[in-house]
Amino acid sequence: MKLSVIGCGYLGAVHAAAMAELGHEVVGVDVDAAKVEALSAGRAPFYEPGFEDLLRRSLESGRLSFSSDMAAAAGAGVHFVCVGTPQKRGEYAADLRYVEDATESLLGVLAPGDLVVGKSTVPVGTAARLAEMVADKAPGAILAWNPEFLREGFAVQDTLHPDRLVYGVPSGKDGETARARLDEVYATIVGAGTPLVVTDYATAEMVKTAANSFLATKISFINAMAELCEATGADVKQLADAIGHDDRIGRKFLNAGLGFGGGCLPKDIRAFMARAGELGADQALTFLREVDNINMRRRIRMVDLAREVCGGSLLGKRVAVLGAAFKPDSDDIRDSPALNVAAQLGLQGATVRVTDPAAVDNCKRDWPQLDYADTAEEAAERADAVLLLTEWKQYRELDPVAFGQVVAQKRVLDGRNALDRDRWEAAGWSYRALGRRAG
Ligand code: NAD
Repeated sequence: MKLSVIGCGYLGAVHAAAMAELGHEVVGVDVDAAKVEALSAGRAPFYEPGFEDLLRRSLESGRLSFSSDMAAAAGAGVHFVCVGTPQKRGEYAADLRYVEDATESLLGVLAPGDLVVGKSTVPVGTAARLAEMVADKAPGAILAWNPEFLREGFAVQDTLHPDRLVYGVPSGKDGETARARLDEVYATIVGAGTPLVVTDYATAEMVKTAANSFLATKISFINAMAELCEATGADVKQLADAIGHDDRIGRKFLNAGLGFGGGCLPKDIRAFMARAGELGADQALTFLREVDNINMRRRIRMVDLAREVCGGSLLGKRVAVLGAAFKPDSDDIRDSPALNVAAQLGLQGATVRVTDPAAVDNCKRDWPQLDYADTAEEAAERADAVLLLTEWKQYRELDPVAFGQVVAQKRVLDGRNALDRDRWEAAGWSYRALGRRAG
């Protein structure tokens, strides 16, 4: 099939390359000319394991191309809208201008029978509104909503082997046509027995925001338990292990620590609350405000803990921050808890050196006020405290004995409960972590 993918960021670029891998002829369109140039040359404009190989394979197959001109999407029968939906400045609501602009410019190339498929995360009600716009300006074209659940760091695997597919389609014959076209696009995935939910627009839109709200709530739940553990001397890691043995609860997403960040969870729960307010159902989601508050409090607590281990003041202290991306295996620094903490430490007078295996270039662009190092050892040179804030494998596997040689004080703060405490303590480090007793 001939497909277009509008918006080639973390979601769209992977989707475009993956669809070409599945045998489709795909053109990716993005307004960012530098991104289009990099993608066309087989260079990933962001760090995502396995993506660059997939991109090169797909380009070499001749089935994948990129353009900054929307006209390139003409002739494709299915158009995926994958542009960003960030939080509006100064508001909780999602900024839909990119989705609206992309759909608007797509209208000019649509032919009767074309299918427009929204993949961006949008507030419930958006698809119905865009469907009217499509029906009005591009008669014969159909709109569907097909939310995306990929996880950064696993984007290639998640796109080629998703755990479910959700199609939000209109009622009647158009809905049947949309479903059949999407089944054709995802024939390999559907054929592999992937669970499929075919539903209306509103449910499809809500599946995505409900899923993210649940995940955020689970993380904040265990972080609220961490706050109580700190007050009582209990150990949140053992608590999580113990409650996680219950199948109904499960251990995943119960890692207490610095909390969630990134380009999705924080803005998605806020947009969900804002939309509920517009619909007069804000009471249903007031708990998400607390979920958000618990999450943000962890960042403050981390700074407090750093100040405490540095003897009550951060002034003039050298602090090493390991990890800047919002999660490991990504270079995405949108709303990164690690950078938020690093910046607060700097504001309180510490000399902060940040390192990250993939995100330093992005950090230098967005956070030029911080100092950066290429390696953990360089960041930790003569440090008074070392903070692990993003649990990259290479940091989890640091040798505490050798690493202890470079610091001024062997004080480690494990912001992700990811280090082997016994090993670090045996190497002479004082170990502190959120939700756990001081050694
Ligand atoms: P992103 O910022 O990395 O990418 C968005 C891209 O859209 C950018 O490259 C931008 O230049 C481009 N763009 C903006 N306006 C355009 C237009 N009019 N025409 C063509 N291109 C345009 O964002 P992302 O992380 O890929 O997220 C995209 C959407 O997917 C969001 O709604 C997000 O919530 C959702 N989502 C993201 C993930 C994820 O892990 N990143 C997972 C699931 C869902």
